Amino acid sequence: MGNENRVGIAIARSNPLRSSVECHVAVIGAGPYGLSLGAHLKAKGINARVFGEPMEFWAKKMPEGMLLRSPRVASNLSDPDGAFTLDAYEAASKIAPSVPVPLETFVEYGRWFRHQLESDLDPRNVMRVNLDSLGFRITLTDGDELCAQRVVIATGIGPFKKKPAVFQSLPAEYLTHCYEMRAIRKFAGKRVAVIGAGQSALESAALLHEASAEVEVVARRGRINWIGQHSWLHHLGPISNVLYASHDVGPVGISRLVAYPKLTALIPLKLRDRIRSRAVRPAGARWLPERLTNVRITTGRGVVDARTVRDEIALKLDDGSERRVDHVLLGTGYKVDISKYDFLPSELTANVRQLDGYPKLGRGFSCSVPGLHFIGATAARTFGPLLYFVAGTEFASRELMSYVSKYAA
Ligand SMILES: Cc1cc2nc3c(=O)[nH]c(=O)nc-3n(C[C@H](O)[C@H](O)[C@H](O)COP(=O)(O)OP(=O)(O)OC[C@H]3O[C@@H](n4cnc5c(N)ncnc54)[C@H](O)[C@@H]3O)c2cc1C
Repeated sequence: MGNENRVGIAIARSNPLRSSVECHVAVIGAGPYGLSLGAHLKAKGINARVFGEPMEFWAKKMPEGMLLRSPRVASNLSDPDGAFTLDAYEAASKIAPSVPVPLETFVEYGRWFRHQLESDLDPRNVMRVNLDSLGFRITLTDGDELCAQRVVIATGIGPFKKKPAVFQSLPAEYLTHCYEMRAIRKFAGKRVAVIGAGQSALESAALLHEASAEVEVVARRGRINWIGQHSWLHHLGPISNVLYASHDVGPVGISRLVAYPKLTALIPLKLRDRIRSRAVRPAGARWLPERLTNVRITTGRGVVDARTVRDEIALKLDDGSERRVDHVLLGTGYKVDISKYDFLPSELTANVRQLDGYPKLGRGFSCSVPGLHFIGATAARTFGPLLYFVAGTEFASRELMSYVSKYAA
């Protein structure tokens, strides 16, 4: 509380020479989390700015033709009155609702949603966040600066992509991470090895196959898990509602628990980590097996060597077999590490108490640096796996608002 007040007093005496704008809350990132929080801040009349191009990650990185894995009800962004839902967008745009939700619909829904933020949305990116005696000084990519009393980091998982050591020496033109697999069609006629057994890897493999690439999935796991294998459990009426929460994150029982992030945060860390891993273990959506019927899937095998031989890649697997491909697609997941956010200086992240790269968070998603908050995937170690998904925007926005409102009067 004492620290929080000091931040407020300092910013009230902000330095007009170097800052063109002041705001109470600066939200960095205009994805589902940033846009939702922005809508709540706007409705409360709090002086806030949300920075970044709306839905940039979804519009520019996700593969063309992708379908959302999350159910419709878990794909709503959050606003205080629950008025700007996916249903409301489709009704306003005269689009027939579809299940699963196509990527393009979701991107357009986010762009429609963002209009309620009006001038509180600034599409410029943030290049630097510094903390000094006057508060947070934010430098935008065009050099403009502003001061903010509070900063919320909602910048997603881009810098956290995992690239296993065996692929480190491959030239960039032969290697893509699923995070940036937008242009599927350019691989038509090419041989592509997809590494991994999660939704990103499996869906990319299906899309590549449909785009006439020659695809093989290579997964270390002994078998592929498919979501919805016990689909009958979802069709038991009120009993299903007891077993699964509507956002459908995690298996029976765990799904119910993770729907309560505040309760999840009270579970001892070791157990909480186990619950988190179980809830997001690699698995493919139920509409994928049929689409992968003609795709070679090699399970129980890892890649032990990867090198370029003339203009192709030679992969060696741990059973001694070899593959020759034109491209490798990594569906190898993410590892949260806030020091990889290049707009946060190391002096600042060094002061954020952490749990293996995740910030240690308290009430209102606050970390050990007063006035600094993290929402989205970076908050999943504290509040559980719901925070990896769009479904967590409701809790994140409301929890942060109740905290911020106290200091914004
Ligand atoms: C292939 C794939 C499929 C997925 N499918 C689903 C799904 O079906 N359902 C689901 O709920 N979740 C899904 N997810 C998880 C998804 O990442 C999160 O649910 C969601 O994107 C979280 O929203 P966010 O706002 O935290 O992050 P993002 O959507 O990543 O938004 C963060 C934004 O911040 C921007 N940004 C980064 N740095 C800066 C900066 N310096 N200045 C300004 N802006 C910046 C980024 O460009 C980005 O647009 C999927 C993830 C992947 C990789």
